[in-house]
Amino acid sequence: MKVAVIGAGYAGYAGLAAAVELASRGMSVTVFEAARELGGRARRVDYHGMALDNGQHILLGAYRETLRLMRMVGADPAELLLRLPLQLVIPGRFHLQAAPLPAPLHLAFGLLAARGLTWGERLSAVRFMSAMQRRNFRLGNDIGADKMLAMHEQTGNLRRYIWEPLCVAALNTPLDTASAQVFLNVLRDSLAGSREDSDMLLPLANLTHLFPEHAAAFIESHGGKIIHSQTVLAVKAEAAGFSLEMRSGSKNFDQVICAVPPQRLAALTASLPELAEARAQVGRFGYQPIYSVFLQYPAATCLPRPMIGLYGGVTQWVFDRGQLNHEAGLLCAVISAEGPHQALDHDDLAQRVDDELRATLPGLPQPLWHKVIAEKRATFACSPSLERPGQVTPLPNFTLAGDYTAGDYPATLESAVRSGVKCAQLILESP
Ligand SMILES: Cc1cc2nc3c(=O)[nH]c(=O)nc-3n(C[C@H](O)[C@H](O)[C@H](O)COP(=O)(O)OP(=O)(O)OC[C@H]3O[C@@H](n4cnc5c(N)ncnc54)[C@H](O)[C@@H]3O)c2cc1C
Repeated sequence: MKVAVIGAGYAGYAGLAAAVELASRGMSVTVFEAARELGGRARRVDYHGMALDNGQHILLGAYRETLRLMRMVGADPAELLLRLPLQLVIPGRFHLQAAPLPAPLHLAFGLLAARGLTWGERLSAVRFMSAMQRRNFRLGNDIGADKMLAMHEQTGNLRRYIWEPLCVAALNTPLDTASAQVFLNVLRDSLAGSREDSDMLLPLANLTHLFPEHAAAFIESHGGKIIHSQTVLAVKAEAAGFSLEMRSGSKNFDQVICAVPPQRLAALTASLPELAEARAQVGRFGYQPIYSVFLQYPAATCLPRPMIGLYGGVTQWVFDRGQLNHEAGLLCAVISAEGPHQALDHDDLAQRVDDELRATLPGLPQPLWHKVIAEKRATFACSPSLERPGQVTPLPNFTLAGDYTAGDYPATLESAVRSGVKCAQLILESP
């Protein structure tokens, strides 16, 4: 059987993961990728002779499929990811770290020992998590995350230092327009799972190396093909199978896994009436940006820990790439979701982040250079009750993979990987 995967998103997860699964079972798989670099939105970006990333990523211990596939293709998570106990640290303001105890005590003790909360707030957070646990993290009807938190009195410092930063980081959507149900899904699997599930995993290598390079080698060693710099212009249904139209001509396949980002779905499938509903659902999506601000300081500069939070300005999280990727003195600030930072030009934004860092870390030297990577439509806006297209489509032998397809999770590496694996399973089960 000839299978085409369109889009080698990293993480590709969606596309590559599916291909990897198929390749491991001896099918003929060809991956078509428009870009030169593998990885899609989670890829290496070369700059100043250094391997930056399209955006700093963080994985969770709960990303089981991602970790499973990494192991399968020979990318050892223990070597490639720094595993840290869950921690939210805003120097001088707030400190929460999961306790070295089995679940659920790791979180309960972590919350009770948190600095920057009153006793009332600590107990309220523990009560909220227990209440959610009792209802299995399910809401009858989805509502805004903000409203759900207010209903459970998760306001003040709890909202400010825990729930808002977690929601914005995980859903890439402002709290007042974010889906409470998807946020609860993330809390269920991370904070309320095992202690290992709540661990934070920080890449120690660039994102193309972390998985796509290993996956590509694995696919090729199993007879699959990866064709870079090859944009598929359209997919057409034939009497048997599909033809993929490209500038260089067309090619026929029995099965197609379409793993392009949601913005590309409509153009690619325009001649497939069976995809009309999926196109309509995606057409109703809103999108949210993620900005990554890389600031290179003199090599001796480092943060007190690999990742810290900032509060009160535009900067949300700062990662020390010296401690992670051997890029001494390089800090990467991440700003998820929409906000006032979008009105600044890149130089002013870098200056603003530097000022905010300086307020927290007095004595910081002047940066030597900066690079801002703005992904204006980084992910879909994860709003309440959002309908997402399923992986199965009404068109036989044509499946959809990608972080935007139906699933429990917001747009993440794990949702992309899960969807890719699901498509692979559907192909294996097809008659
Ligand atoms: C800045 C940023 C930070 C993020 N941080 C995190 C994080 O910390 N943790 C986390 O879990 N997730 C994070 N995410 C989300 C995560 O990166 C995405 O959910 C995931 O990479 C999506 O993978 P995908 O395969 O669905 O799509 P994509 O990565 O978009 O892959 C689609 C691929 O299809 C290719 N393509 C498009 N059109 C065509 C065509 N016509 N023909 C051939 N190829 C085509 C594209 O070039 C691309 O390579 C972040 C995203 C961004 C942008």
